[in-house]
Amino acid sequence: MKHAPMTGPTGMPGGNKPPLRVILCSPRGFCAGVVRAIDSVERALALYGAPVYVRHEIVHNRYVVDSLRAKGAIFVEELDEIPQTNAPVVFSAHGVPKSVPEDARLRNFITLDATCPLVTKVHREAEIHFRRGREILLIGHSGHPEVVGTMGQLPQGAITLIQTIEEARAFVPKDADNLAFVTQTTLSVSDTSEIVGVLRARFPAIVGPHREDICYATTNRQDAVKRVAPLVEAMVVVGAPNSSNSQRLKEVAERAGCPYAVLLQRAADIDWTRLGAIASLGVTAGASAPEVLVEEMLDAFAQRYDLQVETMAATEENMFFPLPRPLRPEAAE
Ligand code: SF4
Repeated sequence: MKHAPMTGPTGMPGGNKPPLRVILCSPRGFCAGVVRAIDSVERALALYGAPVYVRHEIVHNRYVVDSLRAKGAIFVEELDEIPQTNAPVVFSAHGVPKSVPEDARLRNFITLDATCPLVTKVHREAEIHFRRGREILLIGHSGHPEVVGTMGQLPQGAITLIQTIEEARAFVPKDADNLAFVTQTTLSVSDTSEIVGVLRARFPAIVGPHREDICYATTNRQDAVKRVAPLVEAMVVVGAPNSSNSQRLKEVAERAGCPYAVLLQRAADIDWTRLGAIASLGVTAGASAPEVLVEEMLDAFAQRYDLQVETMAATEENMFFPLPRPLRPEAAE
């Protein structure tokens, strides 16, 4: 990406702008689950026409939600906000409790499930543990829609939420030999492995996934931030405050030694005073933040600094999830 010299505050080309080394973390931004969810709403609008109802923000990003709203999507938090309709109802990437599709069926809604396949995988794991009679722990954050959705796959009380290492230390099982755990997909890799470490030490027979359920996108974005954070004086994470994986990127940057990490939704949110006289900056984006917002952020920095932009890659990504079956092109033929 080339940021051409711009007219500085002095009116001179380039002005007296100080140099700024910018390291872009790679991978960053949209993951395969987010692409699939957004494409699901766009495809539903193309197939069925507007409006298309979407339960909860399809992904946690205001820019994305506003863009889809402008095309005819109507966002609701619960199904009871939707009038009786023939318009389809899309479930967000975070997944829903079992009661939601059941309510939708009772109301004869056409439903399209944009739950990320990696979240659905966690739902299935929890169901299997339940069928095998295991007591289930879910490592995650209370109130996050993914956690609400996963807990809602099973009867109330079947899953206990563990949010911290202290809770892992204090947990008292009904039967220590009959335990299982699953995790939210967007957690901090290091925090989660500490919690799992405590559980495995206390309950050696506990059953769980080999490498937690943290998804590839969360892991890769955190790896990239870990590489860049020690090299820069500040790190901008482009993302929304309610985006779990974006919040974790900010924490990872801080822990990896970056003196100032900040989560920003738009360039207008940059606190220039707080940034001070930096000479190096890392930039990343949460899995629900579009690249156009990263570009907007870079353009804002280019107004004040003479940018030298480079990219530091932790790994290559080529994950792709097909659309929900009713939205695939062959289904429309
Ligand atoms: S962050 Fe991971 S689990 Fe969430 S939508 Fe993206 S790929 Fe799926």
